[in-house]
Amino acid sequence: MPITVVRTKAELRSEIARLVDEHAGRRGEGAASLGLVATMGALHNGHRMLAEAAVAGNDVVVASVFVNPLQFGDPNDLARYPRTLDADAALLESVGVDLVFAPSVEEMYPGGDPLVRVTAGPLGEKWEGASRPGHFDGVLTVVSKLFHLASPGPVAGRPTAFRAYFGQKDAQQLAIVRRMVKDLDFAVEVVGVPIVRAEDGLALSSRNQFLGEEDREAALVLSRALRLMDERASAHEPLVPDDAVALIESQPGVGLDYFEVVDPDTLEPLAFNCRETPFTGEALAIVAARVGDVRLIDNMPLKAN
Ligand code: AMP
Repeated sequence: MPITVVRTKAELRSEIARLVDEHAGRRGEGAASLGLVATMGALHNGHRMLAEAAVAGNDVVVASVFVNPLQFGDPNDLARYPRTLDADAALLESVGVDLVFAPSVEEMYPGGDPLVRVTAGPLGEKWEGASRPGHFDGVLTVVSKLFHLASPGPVAGRPTAFRAYFGQKDAQQLAIVRRMVKDLDFAVEVVGVPIVRAEDGLALSSRNQFLGEEDREAALVLSRALRLMDERASAHEPLVPDDAVALIESQPGVGLDYFEVVDPDTLEPLAFNCRETPFTGEALAIVAARVGDVRLIDNMPLKAN
């Protein structure tokens, strides 16, 4: 079936109700499941993976394409963010997504910027939040709205499973959304999807298209530094993150913002001594750097084998 693209909240609600009813009727069980994939468009294979996971796990899948002004601090960054709705809809259709919600800014925020917002608290102030004040409050505010708007509600008196898919690429975002769902009792299951990388190791991002050839080559140092930590973690060796930092700092054209090994849930730096103590357990290595005029983030889960 060709994909339906809706622009308004009212159409989104009625299309979701129709699709969920249809599937529940077809299954004859009076129940269905709905998957939500929230994006800002300019879709690539990383988003495709999210959509595929949602399609594999649910009867009905909705994707949103909305460049959310609330999460941008820099107006130039917002203005130049790529907008490619036709290609996005075609990609989502090819994967089997049922419905695309692509609202205007006025439709999402009819009274202008919302006065009341969801705040990420201390988790939103570190790492990405330190250089992008208010970013995670903007993310949580739009994600809350999307959770309300896409929530399928019960069908024939039975609860409908509701799952939302987020990429591990934005590890801090994923941790904060999980925490919001827990702290504020949202009736949605958050599913994390592993990072999709290009063959050369660069994590896919809508912003990669702004990298020149030389910058793109230079950017590979980020995944190389993460892999160094991963190799040491797998081998139960001390991580010595200073070596990863030195590797990145030796790369011309790359300005390191942070490189840390943190707890995946709290995002606090690991308490254990990474320099002399062999690595055990699980952690997350996170990195952010400016390459040319593009800010890139990447991360890698670490596990002692
Ligand atoms: P964005 O459109 O950048 O807001 O991203 C929408 C969703 O796609 C987020 O949950 C991202 O974490 C996820 N995503 C973006 N890039 C990747 C990637 N390379 N691998 C996996 N997920 C990704």
